[in-house]
Amino acid sequence: MTKVAAFHSKRPNDRNVYHDTKECTEGDNIESYNRVSGTGGRPRCDHCSRIDP
Ligand SMILES: [Zn+2]
Repeated sequence: MTKVAAFHSKRPNDRNVYHDTKECTEGDNIESYNRVSGTGGRPRCDHCSRIDP
């Protein structure tokens, strides 16, 4: 598991969560130009929580 700085997506159709692991496929699917650093005040992604409980 690789921890990364929290980021979230600015795409309107994405779930309102933030990611903080490198292995999260959902976070990995966010194009770099759609990534915004920080949590955005959102809850943590459940995939990330499973990767890094
Ligand atoms: Zn995630």
